[in-house]
Amino acid sequence: MKVSQTTAKSILVKSNLPASDFVANPYSGCPHHCRYCYASFMKRFTKHEEEWGTFIDIKEYESKKLPSNLSGKTILLSSVTDPYNPFEAKYHKSREVLQLLANSKAHIEILSKSDLMLKDIDLLKSIPDLSVGISLNTLDDVFRKDMESGAASVQRRLKALETLHREGIKTYLFISPIFPYITNIRAICDMVSPYADMICFENLNLKGSAKQDILNYISEKYPQYLKRYKDIYLKGDISYWREMEENIKTMSADYKVPFVSYFYHNKIRKGGKNHDKVSWKKA
Ligand code: SF4
Repeated sequence: MKVSQTTAKSILVKSNLPASDFVANPYSGCPHHCRYCYASFMKRFTKHEEEWGTFIDIKEYESKKLPSNLSGKTILLSSVTDPYNPFEAKYHKSREVLQLLANSKAHIEILSKSDLMLKDIDLLKSIPDLSVGISLNTLDDVFRKDMESGAASVQRRLKALETLHREGIKTYLFISPIFPYITNIRAICDMVSPYADMICFENLNLKGSAKQDILNYISEKYPQYLKRYKDIYLKGDISYWREMEENIKTMSADYKVPFVSYFYHNKIRKGGKNHDKVSWKKA
């Protein structure tokens, strides 16, 4: 892994994601090696020749000044890296950003595939409006390793969510990305709902070289689903996702916590945007 320093203009960048006004990415690059990584397009904004996933830049800032009125705004850590990737243990860049945001009156959302945020639990507890999400799409650690080899194990992520919840921190589970026929959303909800204040869902959206890589993987490890994956990802059949969204809506009645769907694809919901948000029960 190549580790470098880089200088960014500011800590916060305006976001066009459906549920955040600003994003903070204290690192550029990510060592979690998710095979479907949605952030690999970021490589073209770096000076790196290396492959995505083999470098990380530790950010310094030209200015640490925050926008003047963040009251009521939502800030996400992070959109194109994992803020609690293993380099955070040494560089504490996410901690530094959180310290600067602590009194901003914004709603801070953390999303991670790690349990390293537990090192900052005192800081997290001191931030008035904060929620911490764990992203997970399987309870099977073999599949987790195949898909997210550098991220924390399923067990460590579950334990982290439980600990955060027990410590009184608002938590959410992000079931993402949902792999058709592989991700068992009900099993995950049954296991995790006691420790989550909200459960969010996002479908697997494959682009670029990740599409063929995942199809090759399915062909090798789950050949029984290959035709269905080809229907979805090569022929554009969205019936699976329409049914999945209906299932999620129906399932939401069985759980006390709010369910929120962030399904990609402008055709799944008529009139929807490219990446839309739908809630069942008040989130
Ligand atoms: S954690 Fe996010 S940014 Fe990091 S490799 Fe996985 S999908 Fe990409």
